[in-house]
Amino acid sequence: MTKGRVDDNFLFEMEDIEFGERRFVEVAIGLPVEKTFYYEIPSGFGERLRLGSRVLVPFRGRKVTGYAIAFPPDLADYPKADVPKPILDVLDERPLFDDRMLAFYRWISRYYLYPLGHVIKGGLPPGINLESQRLLSTTPKGRAFLESGKLTQEELKILRSIADHGKIAFEKAAKRFPHWRIYSLKEAGLIQVDLGLKDVRIKPKREKVVKYREQGTEGGHLSPKGKEVLAFIREVGEISHKSLCAEFKGASRIVKRLEEKGLVSIELREVYRDPLSHLMTGEDLRPELTPKQVKALETIDKGIDSLRFSPFLLYGITGSGKTEIYLRAIERVVEMGREAIVLVPEISLTPQLIGQFLKRFGRRVATLHSGLSKGERYDEWRRIRDGNADIAVGARSAIFAPFERLGMIIVDEEHETSYKQEEKLRYNGRDLAVVRAKLCDAVLILGSATPSLEMYHNAVADKFHLLKLDERIERKPLPAVEIVDMRKERVRGAILSEKLRKALAKNLAAGRQSLLFLNRRGFANFIQCPDCGFVFKCPNCSVSLTYHHRGKKLICHYCNYTIMVPDLCPNCQGYRIRSFGIGTEGVEDEVRKIFPGTTVDRMDRDTTRGRRSHQRILKKVRSGETDILVGTQMIAKGHDFPNVTLVGVICADLSLNLPDFRSSERTFQLLTQVAGRAGRGMNPGKVIIQTFNPNHYSVQMARDQDFAKFYCEESRFREELRYPPFSRLINFRIEGTSQKRSIKAAEEMGEWRRRLLRERPYRTGIEILGPSPAPLVKLKGKYRYQMLIKGKRANSLHRFAQELAEKTKKRWVGRGINLSIDVDPISVM
Ligand code: ADP
Ligand code: ZN
Repeated sequence: MTKGRVDDNFLFEMEDIEFGERRFVEVAIGLPVEKTFYYEIPSGFGERLRLGSRVLVPFRGRKVTGYAIAFPPDLADYPKADVPKPILDVLDERPLFDDRMLAFYRWISRYYLYPLGHVIKGGLPPGINLESQRLLSTTPKGRAFLESGKLTQEELKILRSIADHGKIAFEKAAKRFPHWRIYSLKEAGLIQVDLGLKDVRIKPKREKVVKYREQGTEGGHLSPKGKEVLAFIREVGEISHKSLCAEFKGASRIVKRLEEKGLVSIELREVYRDPLSHLMTGEDLRPELTPKQVKALETIDKGIDSLRFSPFLLYGITGSGKTEIYLRAIERVVEMGREAIVLVPEISLTPQLIGQFLKRFGRRVATLHSGLSKGERYDEWRRIRDGNADIAVGARSAIFAPFERLGMIIVDEEHETSYKQEEKLRYNGRDLAVVRAKLCDAVLILGSATPSLEMYHNAVADKFHLLKLDERIERKPLPAVEIVDMRKERVRGAILSEKLRKALAKNLAAGRQSLLFLNRRGFANFIQCPDCGFVFKCPNCSVSLTYHHRGKKLICHYCNYTIMVPDLCPNCQGYRIRSFGIGTEGVEDEVRKIFPGTTVDRMDRDTTRGRRSHQRILKKVRSGETDILVGTQMIAKGHDFPNVTLVGVICADLSLNLPDFRSSERTFQLLTQVAGRAGRGMNPGKVIIQTFNPNHYSVQMARDQDFAKFYCEESRFREELRYPPFSRLINFRIEGTSQKRSIKAAEEMGEWRRRLLRERPYRTGIEILGPSPAPLVKLKGKYRYQMLIKGKRANSLHRFAQELAEKTKKRWVGRGINLSIDVDPISVM
């Protein structure tokens, strides 16, 4: 194929492409490599290979999985040194993603500065890929040595073990024997290392099915039980072996006999694992819509009917009936033959919501989230791709659901931070919902009682259509919120104020339930004066300074501003200034001490380690067994407990003093959400907020449930200091096991950015903070330093970041330093 031929015989060339006689394919590899690569398509594969399929390719001496992403028309000019190698195998007859999905993946790769192949791999269900592994086996020389025994005891043991296995995975052998011993045997030529394929593909689950056979020879000697079972099978036609055994005792033996007589057949059939059956109970109430719900839906319906990208921000206070709007909107979309994705913050915390979807739509709903086993996830993914489900409900990764006719994406509690993935590909599911809805001409509904500043900003700027639900269903009143000023408490340092203690006692006496809430998000330390509540803030960045125990320093981890901890509080000259330490366990103990004989339960990361432990705790609250539930932000979300009438916030300052520019927003959201848990039943609710900052606007406006006013205050602060939504941020984090090297890498990165800022024409509007130590300087044995890049325009910011990333990676990666890039960071801990 030369360029000349293309000119001479253009039509012929076109036909070539039409009929799939392609010679080369562009492949994105599922490894952390930035580039994509070209491979040759050996004749014979041409027919089978389609874009979106996986291919097995040779890569740097290994066999790896890649994804076919394009057929380049002509590679005649390809440099000789890089003559494309042939692909080894085509792994899918049916592509795993279509053009639109590929466009989505490409967008993600560019925006989050993450390799395309890795993005694709992350979007597919885990475990679907083949991976190569090293296999050990003995050589003839090694086998001879086994006989002659010219080896130490240990060497003999290793060699014999490998010989016994025939072939054994290196990783497996290395679990039992030291690496270096295995290598020394290899160097001596006694064993060899080959590459083999590790088959980690998840297979469809199969189930034994018992079927009635018409032509079987009837009668003979059948026991009464045998006759009974046979009659049953004849009536139902077929039944899973498992269900049959549950129906009849000893059915397994009887069925075997029936099969021998040719009366029934037993077959293996592919089935889907069913992770949801336990949630599908109860009836669907399908309430009459309120006038406000009707109005909101009318606007959404117009968007659905337009078949165009239509984004809505559904701002509805807690208990205003947002879920019913989601359900109705989806009904319309599905009726039109299109599909829907529903993102929820954390599936283990929202069984009620999922239950509602299941009740309305039955098995047309698939769920995708990390709580499922790999097999379950794979099956749900397959049900979607096979067209057997048209609604996917799940955590952030459900945004990758393989729908081809996507008509709607809903993000419930859009402001939640759990939409952000904090490892590997650091995407935000909510933001990707906007992108995918746009690419698919779909309707987007972002719902929240406390919208994020970013999304509300979009609504104010008329990019999103704002829908408001400002009344609770059945006009239930919002709870009365009271603020307790902890500076004025008689007993200094008490966990429960007098007011909260009295309210708890009263609620207990009335036989009602209470929640006590303590925010423990992040673990950064701050120093506070217990007398006046004073907290140190950075004069440049307006975030709290983080206490670093070593050296007794206070550091701003945005800009590296550093001071020593003074002995006296600069505000009130108090001498008790100290770091703040209180946990949910402490609160639980205190409550038990004050109210002996009451049932106190606790919900936090420690008590919810086990599978289903969430449900167990929540069930106990719902059944009325628990009198007082103490918990972290886990209890603040979404739950609907009718008998909870009192909510106590132990310390609003914990979130207010997070070293993060979003701390006020987080506080407002948490307080509003947690207050929304009270008074959802017949009795009105009460909320008590304990704080050292009773006059802070977050606390005040959460009390008044006044989001609009909060938005105005907070925007002013963000605009002044150029924080999002008035700018964009990218966080560069250097991590390494050696502190010296990590610091060196961070310093060098700082140098480059100074040079880049001087030299590049697109630098205007870019601002850099740091490098500085991360609030958790040492985490899991790694030292962490970071640099925040701020930019007014996304394009120039991304160009700058890309250049800086390339430079840093080239110099440091592979030398004990890791660089992670966080675009639109949610937290810079
Ligand atoms: P939100 O998600 O806005 O906090 P929910 O969707 O949980 O509110 O609704 C609160 C309660 O009101 C739920 O128990 C829900 O079943 C009920 N509900 C919703 N819409 C209606 C309606 N139109 N009529 C009666 N009850 C409704
Ligand atoms: Zn600072």
